[in-house]
Amino acid sequence: MSEQMNELQTTVPDGKPDIRSMTLAELRDFLSGLGEKPFRAAQLYRWMHVQMADSLEEMTNLSRDLRAKLAAEAELVTVKKLDVLVSGIDGTRKYLFELPDGNVIESVFMRYQHGNSVCVSSQAGCRMGCRFCASTLNGLARNLRASEILEQVYQIRRDTGERVSNVVIMGSGEPLDNYDAVVRFIRLLTGEDGQNISQRNVTLSTCGLVPGIRRLAGEGLSITLALSLHAPNDEIRKSLMPIAGTYPMEEVLDACADYFARTGRRVTFEYSLAGGVNDSPENAEELARRIGKLHGHVNLIPVNPIRERSFVQSARPEINRFREILEKHGITATVRREMGRDINGACGQLRKSYIDTHAAGGGGQR
Ligand code: SAH
Repeated sequence: MSEQMNELQTTVPDGKPDIRSMTLAELRDFLSGLGEKPFRAAQLYRWMHVQMADSLEEMTNLSRDLRAKLAAEAELVTVKKLDVLVSGIDGTRKYLFELPDGNVIESVFMRYQHGNSVCVSSQAGCRMGCRFCASTLNGLARNLRASEILEQVYQIRRDTGERVSNVVIMGSGEPLDNYDAVVRFIRLLTGEDGQNISQRNVTLSTCGLVPGIRRLAGEGLSITLALSLHAPNDEIRKSLMPIAGTYPMEEVLDACADYFARTGRRVTFEYSLAGGVNDSPENAEELARRIGKLHGHVNLIPVNPIRERSFVQSARPEINRFREILEKHGITATVRREMGRDINGACGQLRKSYIDTHAAGGGGQR
């Protein structure tokens, strides 16, 4: 990574270094620039990424003098909990967080048998324009910094007091449209000096930015790649996802094959089923033909209808039939369990309703 890129990645908008986005090595350099001993970096790093500190005041084993220096010379990025919706059915918690500049994002905490999972946002809003998705309705406000993505996990850990073993980058935003910050986030999250979450328990979901997928395959990470496919051919895919006009399905699937070949990690294909749009037996047959050789797994998601669009969920029999056809062709498929049904606004809806009701007041929101 070039020096300039590092600079951009670890600096907040008012120009102060964003210490929570720094690697331990970068933090050492930064502290020695302030005339501090390098070993202080490990202490500070521990406060930020193990103790998940909200403030410099908490960092009691750092001298008052160093804390004052940090307050003046750096920014400790935090996100603030504005709201949390708790499901009465399965304990799923949906959080609305405020970023330091007043933008808002959402994150979700889910309990599974295999452990707790957090779904993080990678951007405030999104510019990909997928037809069924609420996150994109107001466009992209801005990219998140690595610290702001990490903080979603940290605040949820602090709020619930529970461990988090899985992280999915499937909230609002297109992670490969914010590539550097997202890869930095993954390294900090899975680093042994921080939360030390296994890379195998991290999933990145993309709408299919081919150059990003190819670049990710070379990062040496063992995370799972999830591709939002949602269609068996380009014609249907284009009607749902504008990005399909830029990257044809063949190229996207090629990039996925390359990801599997280089990382050994099976790709997950996400397929949101919308009644009468992409859920026919012919659609399932065509999908099976297209992805049959890729050793992938299909995750079928009953589409979550949003007010602004007219999609309806496929009926249960259609969903089951779709799955059976894939399985007949040797492709494993699961139907995603709907977590937090009672609080389950679709992706980006909590944020959108907050923005809509606060729009008159302005203040950083779009
Ligand atoms: N930009 C990334 C991650 C965001 S969304 C991506 O496109 O993969 C995570 C998944 O939820 C994606 O597969 C997305 O297409 C899907 N999704 C978004 N809104 C949905 C809705 N209303 N119903 C069903 N799936 C939806």
